[in-house]
Amino acid sequence: ATGIAGASVASPTDVPSPTPPAPAPSSTQQQQQQQQQHGNSLGNFFASNPYFTAGFGLMGLGVGLAAGRQIILRGSNLLYRQLLVDLEIPSKDKSYAWFLDWMARESVALSPSESRPKGFRGRLLALRDLYSSSHHLSVQTTYKQHDNGSVSADFSLVPGPGKHILRYRGAYIQVNRERSGRLMDLTSGAPFETITLTTLYRDRGVFKTLLQEANAMAVKMQEGKTVMYVSWGPEWRPFGQPRRKRLLESVILDRGVSERICVDVKDFLQSGKWYADRGIPYRRGYLLYGPPGSGKSSFIQALAGDLDYNICILNLSEQNLTDDRLNHLMNHIPERSILLLEDIDSAFNKREQSDDSGYKLSGATFSGLLNALDGVASSEERIIFMTTNHPDKLDPALIRPGRVDVRELIDNASEYQIRRMFLRFYEGADSVCDRFVTRVTELGVPVSTAQLQGLFLYNKNAPDRALEMVPYLKSP
Ligand code: ADP
Repeated sequence: ATGIAGASVASPTDVPSPTPPAPAPSSTQQQQQQQQQHGNSLGNFFASNPYFTAGFGLMGLGVGLAAGRQIILRGSNLLYRQLLVDLEIPSKDKSYAWFLDWMARESVALSPSESRPKGFRGRLLALRDLYSSSHHLSVQTTYKQHDNGSVSADFSLVPGPGKHILRYRGAYIQVNRERSGRLMDLTSGAPFETITLTTLYRDRGVFKTLLQEANAMAVKMQEGKTVMYVSWGPEWRPFGQPRRKRLLESVILDRGVSERICVDVKDFLQSGKWYADRGIPYRRGYLLYGPPGSGKSSFIQALAGDLDYNICILNLSEQNLTDDRLNHLMNHIPERSILLLEDIDSAFNKREQSDDSGYKLSGATFSGLLNALDGVASSEERIIFMTTNHPDKLDPALIRPGRVDVRELIDNASEYQIRRMFLRFYEGADSVCDRFVTRVTELGVPVSTAQLQGLFLYNKNAPDRALEMVPYLKSP
């Protein structure tokens, strides 16, 4: 055996006797005994002390509760994950606005108090409605200042930030509209938001139905209507409610003008391949010029309605329009939209006051506008309409082919227009119409179609009175 193995084997003599003589208690052992006794008495003291046991009990209870709370929390998280389902709609998503509109309507449509039964059931239903309907609304205002200085605003009420509960197709849905505190949408300056919908896992199918319904509602609201978009930061936002389409026949332009433009636009819209084959940017610019009140804007609106297009109105005189924003806006036009640059001359009136860096357009520069116009190169077609009352003030660079392909004078009322407008208002009054046309032409002053419309509106259903009032057309 090795030394090491030997070391581990004890010799019989080493084994201690089973009953060793009790050693005399040393002083240290005595001390230990005393301490033990002391400890025991302390233990007895604590055990018999009701305050201490109560405290100890409380502590135990606290620990138990904390553990219980943890278990409940984890359990509820687990249950939440197993039983509930969330749907997140970020503010960047198209469904976001649809959903808000849908919900604003849904909460209004909840059962009105009169239709509730009386008694306990009625009160229960009232309570349900109280929780189901949105009492925290926020307002979305669209605002536009017109060239004549007037201002129009439109308000729509949507559910505000916070939690809302709604019942939809038998499922309870919690809607949580949250703003993410610090994050900003740099493109619009608005805070980022998300809407989280939560419902029971078994009801998850309602999300799809709900979104489809919200989408169908948005589409229906736009059906037969024209959406007007205005710029909002670098984004396009619908301005107010979609407008009812204006019929092309309701805008009376001089003989053949309307037809000419319509044929040209429709031909353009069918020529995508032609443009692509020749590598030409697929866009077409139209300039409608002429005195105010001759129907330029009305015609563009009617044309958009006829094509089933929307209109994006860009105000070039806007103070905080920069070249970058202008470029971004013009290159990010919503699908199936006509870009309308109204009163394009007014943006250039200030050019004398500008520095050498180029003609200043309030915020954006003239060269910025040209660049933006030329840069509009997308596979999607671009129809750009410009209107002006003063074509002579326009820089030739702006209206050269490629930027403006079609120019049309939309003038004061011609004989043809006076006749057609009269008969549109007073159907069948042909003999009065002849006299009316003669009298207006004899006035010897240009009369705008808007003036005529004003006269006819004033004399609704009274063609003879309209005839008598012709001299009033002379005074502006
Ligand atoms: P413009 O853009 O040329 O200044 P608008 O289109 O704004 O003119 O017309 C102003 C008003 O006059 C509108 O209410 C429009 O209905 C009416 N109006 C003007 N011209 C015509 C026209 N040619 N046919 C029908 N209505 C017209």
